[in-house]
Amino acid sequence: MGFQPLFFMSDSKYLKGSCQHCNNHIEFPAEASGSVVSCPHCGSQVTLIADTSTAPQKSSQPTALFAIIGTVAIIALIGGGLFFWKQKRGSTPSRSSIPMAANINSNSADQSVTTTSNTNATSSAQTGTKKPKSPSDLTVGDIQLQQTKGSSLVYANGTLKNDSDYQRFGIRLELDLFDAKGQKLSTKAQDYINVIEPHHDWQFHALVVDSKAKSAKVGSIKEED
Ligand SMILES: [Zn+2]
Repeated sequence: MGFQPLFFMSDSKYLKGSCQHCNNHIEFPAEASGSVVSCPHCGSQVTLIADTSTAPQKSSQPTALFAIIGTVAIIALIGGGLFFWKQKRGSTPSRSSIPMAANINSNSADQSVTTTSNTNATSSAQTGTKKPKSPSDLTVGDIQLQQTKGSSLVYANGTLKNDSDYQRFGIRLELDLFDAKGQKLSTKAQDYINVIEPHHDWQFHALVVDSKAKSAKVGSIKEED
């Protein structure tokens, strides 16, 4: 009991020892060395003797601090490594795509010189190895005149296919309308779309205002250049 106050002394060096009975570690102030105390683990009376193998330590806190610093450093290293890995991954495709793009450009340039002397230079530069786009790439299948549910509106519905490798812009579809006897009517039906992606379909819906209309055929397909 007389030894107890020593624990509250400030700035005392702490030593590490072990219980002679249960072999558990005991930390004690250097001043308490040689004292006989009851072991905090097993309660036996033990003499406080510092382990000669371990250097005197002020406390175990520096060890804990080093452990935290070490953990932070490892996390930072992993984080840094991931960052560089991502950077490498991110830059690799763009680096490899540059020579590829250059190859395509040189190919198309070669072709424009050798094979397309009869077409204008700007279109051959744009088309490269693709076959040039043509109005015949835009095809329309069957057209159905259908009344909209819950209203009296009639639409001419169908599909316009873009069978080309190009985006097609500003497509205006004009339909001729015919009555029950097959007589062409003076009114027409129209629909418009801003863009059709390469090899995509456009489901068009052209409003039919003439109630006499019973069938529709493609009148014209216009597109922006
Ligand atoms: Zn003990």
